[in-house]
Amino acid sequence: MLKNDIDKRQICILGSTGSIGVSTLDVIRLHRDKFDVISLSANASVDVIFEQCLEFCPKTVVMVSATHAEELAIRLAQVNLGSIIVKSGVSALVELASSADTDTVMAAIVGAAGLMPTLAAVKAGKRVLLANKEALVTSGAIFIEAVKQSGAELLPIDSEHNAIFQSLPWQEQNKVGHCQLAQNGISKILLTGSGGPFRTWQTSELEHVTPDEACTHPNWDMGRKISVDSATMMNKGLEFIEAKWLFNVEASDIQVVLHPQSTIHSMVQYKDGSVIAQMGNPDMRTPIAHALAYPQRIESGVAPLDFFTTPSFEFQSVDYKKYPNLKLAINACEQGQGACTALNASNEIAVAAFLDEKIKFTDIFKINETSVMKFVSEKVNNINEVISLDLRAREFAQSIVADFTEREKKGHN
Ligand code: NDP
Repeated sequence: MLKNDIDKRQICILGSTGSIGVSTLDVIRLHRDKFDVISLSANASVDVIFEQCLEFCPKTVVMVSATHAEELAIRLAQVNLGSIIVKSGVSALVELASSADTDTVMAAIVGAAGLMPTLAAVKAGKRVLLANKEALVTSGAIFIEAVKQSGAELLPIDSEHNAIFQSLPWQEQNKVGHCQLAQNGISKILLTGSGGPFRTWQTSELEHVTPDEACTHPNWDMGRKISVDSATMMNKGLEFIEAKWLFNVEASDIQVVLHPQSTIHSMVQYKDGSVIAQMGNPDMRTPIAHALAYPQRIESGVAPLDFFTTPSFEFQSVDYKKYPNLKLAINACEQGQGACTALNASNEIAVAAFLDEKIKFTDIFKINETSVMKFVSEKVNNINEVISLDLRAREFAQSIVADFTEREKKGHN
């Protein structure tokens, strides 16, 4: 049930120390009269979450790592904040996300690690601000069915999906997960992407890019995993699958459009020829503020778009030879859940290995493609099957990484 006014919202931020988590707190800082920060979570970033506790005084904090939870509890006690409850572990995270003392959950953990807590928030019928696209990609219909069953309110944080949401007729905004776009005159979703830092590079140059080059996005400042995904355009692929589920459309209803300036964040094309776009400066505080206050509007701290200094808009089609991961994800979207779950898991392993300098940038695709081929025909009917396939695809991808590393070592000897 959507609220028409903003009561003081009780917020839980899963992944508060990351790029999205920090931006969420930036917006909340501007509106302390509208939002109470009830709980925070992180994996191991004690220094950052300690500062967040000093400023926002949550009731509960969960660190996934027990050692880091202990360290945080000691530091909080030293500054007379021992009343903040500090817990650890994944089950504490699930408890936090579904706790009765919050009504809104920002799902901003990176990767499939966010699946169980995000799903717990959905099952508890919360307003879920979904940044953690991997949770939806890896579980698809199971996640959306849980939304329908619980009546949870799903609001997209990814700037593209937030833009699509804003460009929909209002009655469809109430139905994320089970929209009827064709019946509302919509003919296509136009998913924009900048093309990342290597858009103008030759495909042959990509083999030797470094993690730092891959993480230097031309327009957005983001965590390292999503930055690499943006460079391979796997991020657009994950968003493609995310769009299918959020807006209840087929792969053939979605078109990727390269738009290097990232000013238009995505568009909806109607059958009468109208195209409705949402635009603004590329800053995640805009979609975060939109979702926090929905259906109201609040200040986000983002500068207004200045049309006289904004560069001209360009649009291009995608060169899939340069971005084979995007093509792989679009194919996976059509092939089914087995392919999507395996692709997501494999990509997380491959990206981590690239960031650790164990494999080359171009190996990410090779690992992902081999994993999808292996698991494409797997059926995934429930959450246990998702978890099982995710685990097996990770192990398989890990074994390919080990082969690559071994081959690389031999090559040097
Ligand atoms: P970051 O890497 O910056 O932050 C990730 C957060 O998750 C941190 O709080 C981190 O804690 C926590 N975390 C990491 N591993 C685990 C784990 N195993 N279990 C529990 N918590 C964990 O990521 P981003 O903020 O960039 O991205 C978060 C999500 O939002 C991703 O799904 C991404 O795709 C999506 N997104 C991000 C955008 C952006 O602009 N950054 C834009 C659109 C979507 P710690 O600090 O302790 O490691």
